[in-house]
Amino acid sequence: MNKELVETLIKKLQFEKDELEHELGQISTKTEAGYELKVPDFGSDTEDPESEEADESEALGASLAVQNVLEARLNHVESALRKIEQDSYGICEKCKKQITERDLEIDPARPHCRDCGE
Ligand SMILES: [Zn+2]
Repeated sequence: MNKELVETLIKKLQFEKDELEHELGQISTKTEAGYELKVPDFGSDTEDPESEEADESEALGASLAVQNVLEARLNHVESALRKIEQDSYGICEKCKKQITERDLEIDPARPHCRDCGE
């Protein structure tokens, strides 16, 4: 793969990693075991305690879903950066074929070639 392209992709990946870490940092706290969702303080200004509880668990569920998506993406990005260091970047994790440069330009963190999905 050409060196200039790899350098561009590294920049893209690092930029995305920073963004993801920033977004995750807003809804969760980084611990040694991974990211833990911050439990927002909703206060108790609603008159109906039952509906407030439903709102809270709904909001929590939504944040958890967002956190999972961000974390999964961050894992892809970090693993792509590791692969660049180990010189195994751009190889499909399933069939071990070279992922096309065009596909990597669209998504530098993609772990699979077009035939293997994603
Ligand atoms: Zn493949």
